[in-house]
Amino acid sequence: MGNPETSTGSANIIPSVTTPISLRVIPRDQHTISRKDISPNAVRVLYRLRDAGFGAYLVGGAVRDLLVNGHPKDFDVATDATPEQVKQLFRNCRLIGRRFRLAHVVFGREIIEVATFRANIDDGSGDREMENGMLVRDNVYGSIEDDAIRRDFTCNALYYAIEDFSVRDYTGGFEDVQARLMKLIGDPEQRYREDPVRMLRAVRLAGKLGFQIEEKTAAPIPQLANLLNEAAPARLFEEVLKLFLGGHGVASFEGLERYGLFDVMFPESGKALRSNRSGALRRMLIEGLANTDQRVANDEPVSPSFLFALLLWPAFCRTQATLLKQGVAEEEAQRRAADRVTLHQLTTIALPRRFSLPMQEIWLLQARFGSRQRKRVFRTLTHPRFRAAFDFLILRQVASSEHASDVAFWREAQQQSGRELESALDDLHTQDADDAGDEPRKRRRRRRRPGAPGAPAAE
Ligand code: ATP
Ligand code: MG
Repeated sequence: MGNPETSTGSANIIPSVTTPISLRVIPRDQHTISRKDISPNAVRVLYRLRDAGFGAYLVGGAVRDLLVNGHPKDFDVATDATPEQVKQLFRNCRLIGRRFRLAHVVFGREIIEVATFRANIDDGSGDREMENGMLVRDNVYGSIEDDAIRRDFTCNALYYAIEDFSVRDYTGGFEDVQARLMKLIGDPEQRYREDPVRMLRAVRLAGKLGFQIEEKTAAPIPQLANLLNEAAPARLFEEVLKLFLGGHGVASFEGLERYGLFDVMFPESGKALRSNRSGALRRMLIEGLANTDQRVANDEPVSPSFLFALLLWPAFCRTQATLLKQGVAEEEAQRRAADRVTLHQLTTIALPRRFSLPMQEIWLLQARFGSRQRKRVFRTLTHPRFRAAFDFLILRQVASSEHASDVAFWREAQQQSGRELESALDDLHTQDADDAGDEPRKRRRRRRRPGAPGAPAAE
């Protein structure tokens, strides 16, 4: 039953994936997945489905992660029951999604996603929509084989069957996991054209799992990287968070750079990194991402605002330098650079305002760290973004040693009581006044002229 509302004539013709399908069953004693490593709620869902006579499998990232001894963050279930049938089995179930209709079984804070097997072939029996070769709606139910080959990578297409605890492999994924290989199912170019975000997933999962991207899977990425411009900016925002806040940000960055994907996602930062001959901006970016990875490993919070401040800092510095060269006054140049970089970036990645505003504040506070004027010092210290901006200043030391005295001053300022700080500033000002008598230039040491070596543009 075709859906007349979504049918788009010839755009509805789906190229089929030409992968030979053969089933390999890996019995319980030949793999490492144990029920005790699976969320008890997922196990409950699997058994309930099986007891009702349906096929019930753990699938996707969870199976893959368990096979490499990882700790899956979510457990997805695949079944031949329709979403409506799933709903009837679980009182705590709601149906969601337009593009993918899914059942969510809710256990307090844990949600087990239950998806009905879907196919990648449009025989007119389901609800599927294509636009320019890209999938925009995808609700064709199918067999488990269909479901396996419409997945992206072979390592993501493994099924753990609750009925006999075996792993079912239709695409060679089990071997690829052992060989630590990311391999696309089907023709790589076609699969990237269908969904360009798969290029990012290849890089992200390779980074996370320590896998290599198989040669044929990697080869088309540089030529097709530009297709990412057609991906939904909101989806790219989510992917960026997964790439850089998932604990493997450095590996993600290196992978994105290697395949020309970083330039498509962050064109202005890409340009700035390339034109920065000293490599200081790149070192700072890598250090910032490494710190973020460390924080994730320690279970410390990480913020999208700080991340984007870091990723777009090269673009901000470059834009600011251009404006300063055009004769725009320093403060105005900072403000305009912040706005311009944010605006341009929004065309590829939908960075919500609740993150872009703090990101800009982190940048703009950098210029205030040079001031020792009492009122300004207190205003900076009590700014809601002070802590993040100070962390950012610390990071800038990687690019330039000239921030060391500012870092020392603000580190101390945070530890002092209001009164101690006031008297320290008084001392500083007396000292400055004394110095002014014999060495007038010193008083101006914090006022950076456009293009001067200390201005962020030069980093
Ligand atoms: P992680 O959760 O660690 O980020 P994952 O592989 O579980 O990785 P999800 O986004 O949770 O990623 O997707 C779950 C499963 O859905 C994948 O393992 C894969 O089988 C399938 N999948 C996800 N995205 C795509 C895609 N763009 N194209 C085809 N299949 C996909
Ligand atoms: Mg997942």
